[in-house]
Amino acid sequence: MRLTVLGCWAPFPAPGGATSSYLLETEKATILIDAGSGAVANLLKWGQPEKLDAVVLSHWHEDHTADLPILRYLVRSLFFTGKRTEKVKLFYPESPERPDMSKYQEFFELIPIKEGEFLDIKELKGWAVTNSHQALSYGFKFTNGVKTFGYTGDTGYLPKHAEFFYGVDLLLAECTGFKKDSSYTQNNHLTTEECALLAKNAKAKNLAVTHFWPFYDVLMLLDEVREIYPGAFAVREGMSIV
Ligand SMILES: [Zn+2]
Ligand SMILES: [Zn+2]
Repeated sequence: MRLTVLGCWAPFPAPGGATSSYLLETEKATILIDAGSGAVANLLKWGQPEKLDAVVLSHWHEDHTADLPILRYLVRSLFFTGKRTEKVKLFYPESPERPDMSKYQEFFELIPIKEGEFLDIKELKGWAVTNSHQALSYGFKFTNGVKTFGYTGDTGYLPKHAEFFYGVDLLLAECTGFKKDSSYTQNNHLTTEECALLAKNAKAKNLAVTHFWPFYDVLMLLDEVREIYPGAFAVREGMSIV
C-alpha cells in the first residue's frame, strides 16, 4: 500500500503547491482521496490516471474538490483516446453543498457515501465515519488486508475517532491550527495538540500531518505535534509513504 501526497495545503495552496489530495495505491487498486486545487497536475506527475478505480471525496469544500471538474475533463479525454473504457467510481457525501452531479454520469459511477463500510474495490476495503465540520464531512479507513490507512478529512476533535482509527498503520490527520487556535478551530478543525492526541489515543503506528495553512510555519506546527506524538512527520507534495 502506497500513499502519494498530491496536495497538502488549505484552504489555498502555497506557491507551486496544491490543496488536499492523496493517491492511495495497492497492488491492484488505485484511488484518489479528495481532489483539491492542483490535484490533477500532480496526478499526472506522480500517478497513472488511466489506472484510477475510484475517487473518494471527504466533503464538498473547495480545497478538497476544486479539481473535480478538471478531473472530469481528464477522464473524458482518456475515454476519447481509448485509454480507458470503464467509468471511475465517484464516492461523495450526499449533502446540500454538492454540485449538480448529472454532468459526471457519463464517465463516473456516482455512489453516495454512507457511514460504515462504503467501498470494496479489488482487494481494497474502505469505511467512513462522520466528522464534526461545517459541511457533511467524512473520515476514512482503508485496508488491503495487510496494512491499514486512516485519513481524518476535515474535522473537529471527536473521541469516537480514536476508536474508528484504532491501530491503523498510518494516520493522516489534518493539522490546521496551533494549540492557541483552539477557539477558532473548535468543532471544525484539529489543532496540533488534538491531532497528536487522536493518534496517541488511537494507538496509530505512525502519524502524518497535513492540511496546512500556507501562512504558518509547518515545522513549528510539527514541534507542537511532537510534544505529544514524538514520531509524527509532516507531508509535502510528491512524498510517497509505503
Ligand atoms: Zn472543510
Ligand atoms: Zn479543508
